[in-house]
Amino acid sequence: MADNSLKTANTSEYKHQYYLAHKEHIKARGRQYYLDNKEKVRERGHQYGLDHKEQVRTRNRQYYLDHTEVIKAQNKAYSKIRLPQTKYEVLAHYSHGEPRCLHCGITDIDVLTIDHINGNGKTHRKGSLTGDNLYRWLRINSFPDGYQTLCFNCNFKKYIQERKIK
Ligand SMILES: [Zn+2]
Repeated sequence: MADNSLKTANTSEYKHQYYLAHKEHIKARGRQYYLDNKEKVRERGHQYGLDHKEQVRTRNRQYYLDHTEVIKAQNKAYSKIRLPQTKYEVLAHYSHGEPRCLHCGITDIDVLTIDHINGNGKTHRKGSLTGDNLYRWLRINSFPDGYQTLCFNCNFKKYIQERKIK
């Protein structure tokens, strides 16, 4: 009897010792399990996200609050280095060559923008994306059709003309 209660008291300590002694083995097993059940694990993660929307959101928000400085620094670094590259690539793609406005031909990259050819983008499901996010989205999605490079002037003029027609 005394032996049994002793065992119970030491169970968590025993488990911990066991874990320490077999750490690599346990980790490898977890890894192997993931490899063998990738779909299942991913599906479960997805389901977890659906079932715990609020928790996940709170956790993400908390993560952001705890790492605000780091995240901001990362974003800044991205804006400085990656974003101009992305912007150039996207503008070049939709100019069919060097970035330039397809209407007036201006090549100043600072005044160029991406225009959603059919309308002002409201009908497009990504129509709410603007600026940096739009550049990123277009690149990630392998440059979908329906966009063109315009300068702000021509883009604005097109917008005004469309409003006049309507
Ligand atoms: Zn133009």
